[in-house]
Amino acid sequence: MRSTVKTIISYLEELAPQSIALPGDPIGLQLGNPDAEVAKILVALDPDREAVEEAAFLGAEMLVTHHPLFYHQLSSINEDSPAGALIAEAIRKRINIYSAHTNYDVAPGGVSYQLAKTLGLPAEKAEVLEVTGSEDLLKLVVFVPVGCEEQIRDALSAAGAGQIGNYSHCTFQVRGTGTFMPGEGTDPYIGTRGQLEKADELRLETILPVFRRGAVIEVLKRVHPYEEVAYDLYPLDLEGKKIGLGLVLEPEKPLSTQQLIQLCRNRLGADNLRYWTAGKSTFKRIALCGGSGGSIIKHAVRQKVDILISGDFRYHDLKQAEGLGLALIDAGHDATEKPGLDYLRQYLERKLQADSFGTEVCLQTSEGAKWS
Ligand SMILES: [Zn+2]
Repeated sequence: MRSTVKTIISYLEELAPQSIALPGDPIGLQLGNPDAEVAKILVALDPDREAVEEAAFLGAEMLVTHHPLFYHQLSSINEDSPAGALIAEAIRKRINIYSAHTNYDVAPGGVSYQLAKTLGLPAEKAEVLEVTGSEDLLKLVVFVPVGCEEQIRDALSAAGAGQIGNYSHCTFQVRGTGTFMPGEGTDPYIGTRGQLEKADELRLETILPVFRRGAVIEVLKRVHPYEEVAYDLYPLDLEGKKIGLGLVLEPEKPLSTQQLIQLCRNRLGADNLRYWTAGKSTFKRIALCGGSGGSIIKHAVRQKVDILISGDFRYHDLKQAEGLGLALIDAGHDATEKPGLDYLRQYLERKLQADSFGTEVCLQTSEGAKWS
């Protein structure tokens, strides 16, 4: 069975909903047809010539990238320009392009979380460095026949409901009597057509982030034994999990400059790494931000960070860090975002397999321009 562009987008929306992207970021389906079938996906950092050529070579119908294709508004698609030629080529080869950029940067489990995990740092205990928002929450109330509650609770939890802090499977239940009368054309799990049924039921309540709504309701309808599932969703005036750019964490023991450099070199392949120790030799409070970290220096200092690991630091970023006593490791824009791409490939593969799609997911192997 083949998936469609729309299916892949629904998986990506669960991981990094477009609603949490930073304002003005041109994310989402950049080019293509939501109904197009997809047998192969290529995951790449940039929607550039190398990525489009590799997608075409592999026969991939979809290119999923971190950086968007359209940063600036186009007034024409003229093949005399590199951008016009690239877009025209992607259209000719029927390659659908989708970008998850700042929405993937700020998503829980996003780019910086994958960077921390790849470096072997305690990502689970990390806090957000620059908060850009919080998850909106919903209350789900569903009425389930007594005896089915465990199966439904487990399924809802696996789909992302019932999470409060580090506690999972958070629900409340109270027993009561549900009534219904099966009508013409029904096939009731309990009861008989045309007769009022009084069923022994539980009112099961739980909580979920808004962006999990589709996945949770889909699972609920799949596992609930009733033909018609009675459920309610209420918006909540509560602040959910904080989301934002970068993470700050503390390993069990402070790490030395050399240990951090070796981790970045060995696990990220950061060959052109640069660093500034700010006169320190060990680091307890470590911040990480995949991509460009210059704008986050002030947030790192505010959170009393000892060292910030990111990429693309400019001369003036170094001078700012020097003045503020913050150590920096510049491991490279691409090297610090690569763990996020690896995870994106694994994630899509897992989702497609779980839904029995035979769609293949590849990671880009070709390389664009690199500093010598
Ligand atoms: Zn980037």
